[in-house]
Amino acid sequence: MANIPNLLGVHALVWVGGWTNDQATEAIKNSAEAGYGLIEIPALDPKSIDVDHTSKTLKEFGLKGACSLGLSFDADINNEDSEIAKRGEARLMDALTVVEKLGGDYLGGVVFSALGKYAKPTTPKAIENATNALRRLAQEASKRGITVGLEPVNRYESNLINTGQQALDMIKNIGEKNVVVHLDVYHMNIEEQDLVSPVIAAGSQLGYVHIGASHRGPLGTGNIDFDSFFGALAKIGYKGTITFESFSSAVVSPDLSSTLGIWRNLWTDNKSMAKSAREYMEAKIIAAHA
Ligand code: MN
Repeated sequence: MANIPNLLGVHALVWVGGWTNDQATEAIKNSAEAGYGLIEIPALDPKSIDVDHTSKTLKEFGLKGACSLGLSFDADINNEDSEIAKRGEARLMDALTVVEKLGGDYLGGVVFSALGKYAKPTTPKAIENATNALRRLAQEASKRGITVGLEPVNRYESNLINTGQQALDMIKNIGEKNVVVHLDVYHMNIEEQDLVSPVIAAGSQLGYVHIGASHRGPLGTGNIDFDSFFGALAKIGYKGTITFESFSSAVVSPDLSSTLGIWRNLWTDNKSMAKSAREYMEAKIIAAHA
């Protein structure tokens, strides 16, 4: 890899729609061959992951693993119902165990709510349930050396945190040091005023980044001003992980693809697409630091 200050990762859904042992091997091997140092593994159903196989394969290919997830409406800490909130918290704790067993140090994504279109705004009681559950999750994560990232997503995927500022406010209310902001340019392009000010506002609390095109297709297409975004990362001296996310109907996850609205085929050759995305990010990072 080029001499850059960031570890570059790739989301597993570029490669595979599930996580059987064969799929895990294929995804990890392809990530390494495309020049990435980390693979982000969806942990929507943490107990389904064969952690021994995955951790052995990560070691074999010299890759780091991170996990991300969104909760579901029947197991959601952002709910007034304490039973539903408890089920959400239990799932987060299971995901934490997966990260630990993979030797990882990051659990992020829509850990604060269900991933999907809510029918109504959230409520003070649901926010209180989410905040308290995230505080307990962060405290447990801290004992295991794991950072928890809150990823603001667009309004159709959560009703709780849609902007970087809302993530910063939540982190303040949680009050634990190992909770960070996880910015994703795809969502920022929908919800933020611009692509620079949320990065500056997060500053040292920015802990993880997702890079994706405006239509979630190949990098270098779409309408996002990546020069501004990578310039902002350079300005705050961001040295964390930057993970490429792209989704196409060519790879289908029964859990995730429909929730994210992946209806179109934006690429078929994932190997060349992932390699050129890595080169694109490296070139932008180098230019931003020049
Ligand atoms: Mn993302």
